[in-house]
Amino acid sequence: MDLNFLWKNTLDKISSLVTPIAFETWFSNTKLIELDSNLAKITVPMHIYKKHLKENYDELIREVFNDVSGTNFNIEYISEDDLDKNNILDTDKIGVPYHNFESNLNSNYTFENFVVGESNRFAHATALSVAEKPGLMYNPLFIYGNSGLGKTHLMHAIGNYINKNLKKKVLYITSEKFINDFIFINKKTKNEHDFNAIENFKIKYRDIDVLIIDDIQYMASATQTQQEFFNTFNELYSNNKQIIISSDRSPDDLKLLEDRLRTRFNWGLLVNILPPDYELRTKIINQKIQSNGMNTLFPEEVKEFIANSCITDVRKIEGSITRVVAYATMMNGSIINIELAKEALKDVFVNNQSYKNSIDNVINIVAEHYNVSNKEIKSKKRTSQIAIPRQIAMYICREHLKEKLPRIGQEFGGKDHTTVIHSVDKISKEIKENPNLSLEINKILEKIK
Ligand code: ADP
Ligand code: MG
Repeated sequence: MDLNFLWKNTLDKISSLVTPIAFETWFSNTKLIELDSNLAKITVPMHIYKKHLKENYDELIREVFNDVSGTNFNIEYISEDDLDKNNILDTDKIGVPYHNFESNLNSNYTFENFVVGESNRFAHATALSVAEKPGLMYNPLFIYGNSGLGKTHLMHAIGNYINKNLKKKVLYITSEKFINDFIFINKKTKNEHDFNAIENFKIKYRDIDVLIIDDIQYMASATQTQQEFFNTFNELYSNNKQIIISSDRSPDDLKLLEDRLRTRFNWGLLVNILPPDYELRTKIINQKIQSNGMNTLFPEEVKEFIANSCITDVRKIEGSITRVVAYATMMNGSIINIELAKEALKDVFVNNQSYKNSIDNVINIVAEHYNVSNKEIKSKKRTSQIAIPRQIAMYICREHLKEKLPRIGQEFGGKDHTTVIHSVDKISKEIKENPNLSLEINKILEKIK
């Protein structure tokens, strides 16, 4: 099945683990050409690559590849010199530049392939306005939300857009890299009185038009670096240069960050990305499958299974698709069906919601039981014909699935957690007074089990 897809996912991961130059040199021209029962065959351009990868990166490649594919493969490196080129290699596809190194931007992350839904619409729109008018719209733009929800993707998308359409210098950096650079110049200046190092640092971070700094929460414990970042921020800001920041929490919750930095983050625009609802998860699954040309291979049932199981995070959706493909490949190109998907993902979902007790499943079953639609359950309609099934479904999610209140609210069409509490209380009370209701809920629970 799709070896390119597997390998692309592996390379994506590796690119975040090695330096850009190492990635470009050793990995960007590699290709997965065959999977045997326990051997993955990788082609490399020349013998020297084979030697270097084998001696320096074999363990890393195996680890990442096995993580992506969910199995244990050994890696065999085949140099193109050794191959009968007409036979296997599609040389056109080799050597596509992977990164833009000047900016550290990953060209795979664009606005075009960012799927928009309720939970990220605002973030997406503000990101695009900033990309169109850097320095003029919202400065700084501060994007926050849990891991795996697309913050990094959006930031690269902004950078790629600016790079393509405007003549501006963009620099993408993680806060860890910023800290490392800063520590490096400090060591240098202490030991060698190397003032060039300071100059270089300043040029790197201040002589730019757009600074994108990812995962600022890691700067929380680095006091001296914060000081330097503060200076960098001020310099850029006062020159109307765009600053884009991401974090896994809001500025107010970045407790260890200096107040003056937090205040500055509040000057611009704060945007929050929330976990995707069912509809967006389905859209994302379709997009990932389609863009990899695998649409016909994935039955609806498997897509639904993934959408129901990966509730909190888009990264997990991608990982699950990859795993299912890998598993089918390993089973000698078996057809993808629900049994195969469940088998392939059994480790992934072990600590997560399973298909049977996910919120969406409850909504499906309750909706069917009362002959209303899922959409109505998630709507704001207050007629008792719809409100009561909705309250019962919320009650089951809370009392029987022990789901968290905000998550229930979110899955029920973005309701506030107080609405959920109110529903749960109401049904709990009614059950005590009305034995018929209690019987009815037991019937529904039977169906869910
Ligand atoms: P974060 O930085 O918030 O932890 P990432 O930007 O790294 O998350 O996203 C994790 C993965 O999910 C990436 O591969 C990204 O492309 C993908 N992703 C997240 N949100 C979306 C989306 N709305 N549409 C398409 N892909 C997405
Ligand atoms: Mg990120």
